[in-house]
Amino acid sequence: MNLIKGEGEVSSNKELLQAQELLWHCTFSFIKPMSLKCAIELGIADIIHNHGQPITLSKLISSLPIHSSKAHCIQRLMRILVHFGIFSTQAPQEDQQEEKEEEKYYLTLTSRLLLLKDGPFRATQFCLAELHPRLLAPWQFLSTWLQKGDDDDPTPFKMVHGMNFWDDLPTADPTVKCIFTEAMASDSHLISKVIVEDGKKVFEGLSSLVDVGGGAGIMAKAIANAFTNIKCTVLDLPYVVADLKGTHNLNFVEGDMFKKIPSAHAVLLKWVLHNWSDEEATIILKKCREAIIESKDEGGKVIVIDMIIDENSMLEKKLVETQLYFDMLMMINVTGKERNKKQWENLFLAAGFSHHKITPIEGLRSIIEVYP
Ligand code: SAH
Repeated sequence: MNLIKGEGEVSSNKELLQAQELLWHCTFSFIKPMSLKCAIELGIADIIHNHGQPITLSKLISSLPIHSSKAHCIQRLMRILVHFGIFSTQAPQEDQQEEKEEEKYYLTLTSRLLLLKDGPFRATQFCLAELHPRLLAPWQFLSTWLQKGDDDDPTPFKMVHGMNFWDDLPTADPTVKCIFTEAMASDSHLISKVIVEDGKKVFEGLSSLVDVGGGAGIMAKAIANAFTNIKCTVLDLPYVVADLKGTHNLNFVEGDMFKKIPSAHAVLLKWVLHNWSDEEATIILKKCREAIIESKDEGGKVIVIDMIIDENSMLEKKLVETQLYFDMLMMINVTGKERNKKQWENLFLAAGFSHHKITPIEGLRSIIEVYP
């Protein structure tokens, strides 16, 4: 819906109301994540799951850790969460029964990702990390930040908290550090399942691999287990890997990817490059190239797992919107961005690579194999 009218042209009442609705919709979109956050904090998904069957409103209310005076709010919270598709309702059966059955709430596949029993795939920490007040605070100052020079503060996060995101994480707030690490790990559990099952070919024939910025090593562990001939190394900052123990084909190394990356047949960069500006990402990629250059003739490569943004793509509108959200997130917290095909290509050329191959993964991200 594009309401482009020239100066002086009269818009119909219907058009004016539609314009107002769009603004309201945009303004109040924050209610969606905040309602989700509340549902996570109250453990609604687990209550429904533990009930063993769809739950009625009264049973849900009696199972929730809320004050009795707030019981009447739950139907409204559930109504909006059902509307968003987080939970679902069974329509009361309009059959011959005398009594109308009370509405019941079901889990959807999305709310099943919030379940305690789903352990590693559980996405609650991801949502809570991104919605943590510390990560939301810089959003209030985006326009202020845009009016300042780059030398002052590279990100709104730094402007508000006085430290860069990566330096702040281990020191400022242990809760944020913990939920951020768990958030990254839960994504890696899910994506490593997808990649090890559907993207096998990418790793076949490799003898060694360094997962640069590999966090808690979830992805590397999955690769090491699925391909026992690959010697895997996780390189990350000291505070991330210091206490982690390896196995016979997995080890953890403390280091700085801007300085040195251990030599290997392949280097993996999952969700790393989008955190960094073109200048920074080029330095990282040059270090990766040095690490694999000796294996050039044996198929040595850098494997990037990241988004390829395309606002005009035929992807479902929601997927494109999520990619655009991520791009803004990178602007707020770190110096990075989400890149389109051309921007990725420019980056690889600037770092001295000769060619690359893109394999989209179902959903938001792609695998890019980059060759020296
Ligand atoms: N690849 C992981 C983590 C992505 S988050 C995953 O997808 O789950 C980015 C990671 O880069 C974090 O673990 C962070 O600690 C690491 N990192 C940031 N700066 C780094 C540096 N200079 N050297 C090595 N790792 C770094």
